[in-house]
Amino acid sequence: MRIILLGPPGSGKGTQGDLIEKRYNFPKISTGDLLRRAVQEQTPLGKKAEVQMNRGELVSDEIVEELVRERIFQADCRQSYVLDGFPRNIAQAKSLEKMDGEVPEIVIEIKINEQELISRLAARRVCSQCGAIFNLDVRKPNKEEVCDICGALLIQREDDKPAVVQERLRVFEEKTEKLRDFYLRKKVYHWVDGSEKIETLFGKISFILDTELGKFKENEVRR
Ligand code: AMP
Repeated sequence: MRIILLGPPGSGKGTQGDLIEKRYNFPKISTGDLLRRAVQEQTPLGKKAEVQMNRGELVSDEIVEELVRERIFQADCRQSYVLDGFPRNIAQAKSLEKMDGEVPEIVIEIKINEQELISRLAARRVCSQCGAIFNLDVRKPNKEEVCDICGALLIQREDDKPAVVQERLRVFEEKTEKLRDFYLRKKVYHWVDGSEKIETLFGKISFILDTELGKFKENEVRR
């Protein structure tokens, strides 16, 4: 089973993806996290991606597809996995089908209005070491600027700075929104209201997943 989380930056895909991973034991694959690691380690791929990421632009499809291909064929993804931040355009969606086409899909879009996104991204802080996500308004760290989980320094992502956020939202509207129609046509599309509290939203996402996974199991048994 392939679970795809769609939604603009700041809509909560990463947080909900982590919760899905914990509850269902499906590995979460975040292309943003994979790219940030490559940039931090200054790998050749990371060096290529860094400029585009810092401008809020999309990294080239080939680079991201390569990262996804490497990850989804690892042993822990054999049963199911959750994608956060991929696909981000129709070309990537088609290439995912080519890579791993047979897998049944559940697509969930987290919808949220722009004003709320802008204030969320301004308050978001991430751990410079383990990547844990905090929010200075609603999910404060126990100690200012320090990660509750590993004790490393919390930072603001370069691309969460206001000038870059505008560009990321524009890119989302232009490219990623077309994916909604693509998945609607495949009859695998669902949406949830991202302005709800983390736990409430996760309850709704779990309901969709339990229902769809249940249908899938029923079909397997019937076959
Ligand atoms: P995210 O953490 O998902 O918001 O991603 C951060 C940045 O990484 C994006 O603004 C893009 O520059 C890059 N990125 C992440 N996923 C993709 C993707 N699927 N395609 C192209 N660029 C991506």
